[in-house]
Amino acid sequence: MQGKKTEDEYVGFASLPEQVHRKAVKKGFNFTLMVVGESGLGKSTLINSLFLTDIYKDRQIPSVEDRMTKTVEIEKRQIDIEERGVRLRLTVVDTPGYSDALNTQDCCKAVENFVDEQFAQYFKDESGVNRRNIQDSRVHCCLYFISPCGHGLKQVDVEFMKQLHEKVNIVPIIAKADTLTAAEVCKLKNRVLQEIDEHGIKIYEFPDCDSDEDEDFKQQDKELKLAIPFSVIGSNTVLEVNGKKIRGRLYPWGIVEVDNPKHCDFLKLRQMLISTHMQDLKDVTQDVHYENYRAQHISEENKRDLQRERKLKRESCTSLDGVVDADRLLQQKDEEIRRMQEMLKQMQEQLHVSGGRANGTAC
Ligand code: GDP
Repeated sequence: MQGKKTEDEYVGFASLPEQVHRKAVKKGFNFTLMVVGESGLGKSTLINSLFLTDIYKDRQIPSVEDRMTKTVEIEKRQIDIEERGVRLRLTVVDTPGYSDALNTQDCCKAVENFVDEQFAQYFKDESGVNRRNIQDSRVHCCLYFISPCGHGLKQVDVEFMKQLHEKVNIVPIIAKADTLTAAEVCKLKNRVLQEIDEHGIKIYEFPDCDSDEDEDFKQQDKELKLAIPFSVIGSNTVLEVNGKKIRGRLYPWGIVEVDNPKHCDFLKLRQMLISTHMQDLKDVTQDVHYENYRAQHISEENKRDLQRERKLKRESCTSLDGVVDADRLLQQKDEEIRRMQEMLKQMQEQLHVSGGRANGTAC
């Protein structure tokens, strides 16, 4: 080990992290969050509660007739949030009409196509000439809302997660947790985890905590992992309780507080999504999901190129055969014409001879 350095022995690279920090802050951050689940499960309310905004101001709730005929739509909303000089461009992707349709396959396909389209766009931009200002619209996290009314996952939940788990980071959450008792929340969580395991679904896996992290952080990380699937409560209302402003829901029998860890896991979800794991969600999207897409896309393109090459070869071979055939045909015709000319010549000669003879006799 080297001894302690004096001031004039420093080269200056110790400030590298600050340079990176400054550059990143200047550039700003972007994050795309997708919310999926039955309509009415509290998706928009939760997003407003998470980011303390009203991102759904202009939302129109479709009538039941509209919902019967409508297919799954993909709706994108964007807001710029700033906190202590750090800018975050948040894109929320909503899926109105999800699970209203009778065919669950259609719901999943629409979302899958959207996720693939964002990968395709990124791939196109990345392979283009100007790669400096690529807009990353890939979905970094999908909050999947599970109904508190059922006894676990529904068929559509299983199908969706199985179809999308290799393309996007799925974080399952139990919606409207205030409608369940503490024991019911616990039972539902266990059931959901068991079903996720039975169906081989891969939800977002929290990275292991580094061994050199402090004990508080390790404990926090452990609690986060134990809370999955997060049970959440959302509210657009700020209430005043004992002179303190809180976000909560007022019932005839009392108040349920969104931010109270005894009432639900809202704070844990917010901490994980924003404070501790946002960058990891982006890294996993880039290093695992996008890389999978890229490898698959390139191998499909190669396969297509190979097929095209083979087809071209086959076509050029058949056209070569055609040329050979035509040549042969021409040769045969030439031969025939030559033979006919020969015959004509002989006939003319014969005619000439016999004509001469006839002429001779006549003389
Ligand atoms: P979305 O269609 O999934 O976006 O659902 P909304 O956010 O529009 O919520 C539908 C209804 O459920 C509204 O009346 C909300 O006030 C209510 N709601 C939202 N979150 C909760 C919650 O955590 N608990 C309860 N009990 N109701 C909620």
